[in-house]
Amino acid sequence: MIWTEQPERAQWFYDQVKSILNGEREIPAVTYKRRGSEFHLSDFDLCVEKARLRLTLDETPAISNESALKFFRGRAIERCFGTEVEPIEKDGLVMTIDGECPWGLYEFKTANTDSSKFSPNSKRGGVYAHWAQRILGYMYATGAEEITLAIYFLSGNTPSHRGGMAGRESVVIRTFSGKPSTDTEAAENWGRILARKTALEDAISNGTPLPDEYTGEPWECSGCNYSEVCQRWRAF
Ligand code: SF4
Repeated sequence: MIWTEQPERAQWFYDQVKSILNGEREIPAVTYKRRGSEFHLSDFDLCVEKARLRLTLDETPAISNESALKFFRGRAIERCFGTEVEPIEKDGLVMTIDGECPWGLYEFKTANTDSSKFSPNSKRGGVYAHWAQRILGYMYATGAEEITLAIYFLSGNTPSHRGGMAGRESVVIRTFSGKPSTDTEAAENWGRILARKTALEDAISNGTPLPDEYTGEPWECSGCNYSEVCQRWRAF
């Protein structure tokens, strides 16, 4: 994808929060719908084995305190900016896009890094590959030619942070427009997602864990709720 900073879009997000502070708007409900047996596009962001375990275990392991707070923090913050778009489904994948702004659909993320160091098109320290995979999936499913990515940098430049510097904002929102870098990128991305979906379907019907290439990186395993039961756990 190609990302272009669109600073004027950030003000729309700030104004969304200010309208709550001014009593002009209410925060949409901070809820998660209980998941059923359907596949979600987000199941294919990173470790697909998580989805297999979620869909096949009789009892889902309890979420850790840390994970609960992390998920809730992101969820509560993103709800302050707008209402989710109604879920859509394509090729057996359900997806719920974060919201709509005056420039079309948007995806909202939070980050704990220094906003001034973030360069969206950088291979290291830019937009994560799994963020781009999901966003390209939204674009393919909806036909959108562009999407806005809003990133709320939560704490990266507080004075106590090692990268903190006087004069910089401690919390900030940066906004980017994202487009596929080629005419075929969104379709190729969708093909890879469907291949991951096929691997998940095969693993479920065979009753076996997914091959390594579809499972988590060590950093993902280390905070995973399924680590106690997962045969692919690899955090050391
Ligand atoms: S422990 Fe690792 S491999 Fe297993 S489900 Fe969790 S993230 Fe995936």
